[in-house]
Amino acid sequence: MRPFSPGRDQMSKRTRKHKDGTRLAHAGRAPARQHGFVNMPIYRGSTVIFPTLASLEAEDQDFSYGRLGTPTVRALEEAICELEGGHRTLLTPSGLSAIATAITAFVACGDEILVSDSVYRPTRRFCDHVLKRLGVKTTFYDPVIGGEIETLITDKTRVVFAESPGSQTFEVQDVPALARAAHAAGAVMILDNTWATPLYFKPFAHGVDVSIQAATKFIVGHADAMLGTITANEQAAPAVTTTHEDLGLCPGPEDVYLGLRGLRSLGVRLERHQRSGLELARWLAERPEVARVMYPVLPSDPGHALWKRDFTGASGLFSIVLKPVPHAKLAAMIDGLNLFGMGYSWGGFESLILPFDPRAYRSATTWRAEGPALRLHVGLEDVDDLKADLEAGFARLAS
Ligand SMILES: *Cc1c(COP(=O)(O)O)cnc(C)c1O
Repeated sequence: MRPFSPGRDQMSKRTRKHKDGTRLAHAGRAPARQHGFVNMPIYRGSTVIFPTLASLEAEDQDFSYGRLGTPTVRALEEAICELEGGHRTLLTPSGLSAIATAITAFVACGDEILVSDSVYRPTRRFCDHVLKRLGVKTTFYDPVIGGEIETLITDKTRVVFAESPGSQTFEVQDVPALARAAHAAGAVMILDNTWATPLYFKPFAHGVDVSIQAATKFIVGHADAMLGTITANEQAAPAVTTTHEDLGLCPGPEDVYLGLRGLRSLGVRLERHQRSGLELARWLAERPEVARVMYPVLPSDPGHALWKRDFTGASGLFSIVLKPVPHAKLAAMIDGLNLFGMGYSWGGFESLILPFDPRAYRSATTWRAEGPALRLHVGLEDVDDLKADLEAGFARLAS
């Protein structure tokens, strides 16, 4: 297989100098090659025909086999790569497969990796199950450890894995400090960048080597497809590309198209998620039923200074801890909500609410909470209606 070289295809060369808002509209598109149609069509396919024996032997075609990429796949890869500021992006069928592939690319039996304690729980399961079985040791670290992580690094450490802010509890990590410590030890810095997306956190400008996204969330943006992205810098790209190819990962063409489709409106959706999220977070912080709000955008949040230093925005996903309430009252509050649906995932247009309790699975830190904890995804609805829905919920809580 001829190695992919960014720029060879030059589909989106014309947007390199533009700002992100413009890139979202133009990256990965080449209407002139598609009879003028604005959107990249859905290419389906396994077999790709080579015109001559010489062409087959030289492996000189841009595309050679469906599993290894189609123009639709390449379009989304190029667009994400440009936004993240990386060297090469690969697509996977889910966010979790992107994480598993990125980690697998850098470890062998006997190696060790460091993973944040507030990581997405299935990432932890991958470490506890698959990596453990293959002889790779995972040490979970306090998400706010910063440069002190060097005390956990050994001569066997190959990967430092971060997710910032952390799943459910939203601790902001000092990614540049983690990356410096990782690099000093020759380890690779991997970041789960799903919450901020490359619009609000530029991973490669902060020392990250490999950035993954659950594109299922904000990129797809409509809760109608599963998709993952892995973006690597030049040094990390060969290992990631080889592992991705060897594991045989290829997302379905419809889902890739939905990723491209979602990407075009990511900027305006995130702005709205952010605005409504901040308004609701501020309102919730004043409510007598709420013990605290975990959202780094609020100046009272312990991660606010780091968020302000490294991020250029926030999505509308955050958590609250309630004051102690009987379980039945909590159920009455949640079950009666009209607009906030209860379910996994986030990043779609509708608001979601989900209770969580990290006590069962955190191992490097101890979760202490005044009462039950709830994660909120603030969707695209009118924020006054969302407020009214929660207000009625608080009335049921108190009744
Ligand atoms: C949802 C999520 C994932 C996994 O994505 P899937 O597409 O559901 O596999 C990974 N990381 C974070 C932070 C997530 O929220």
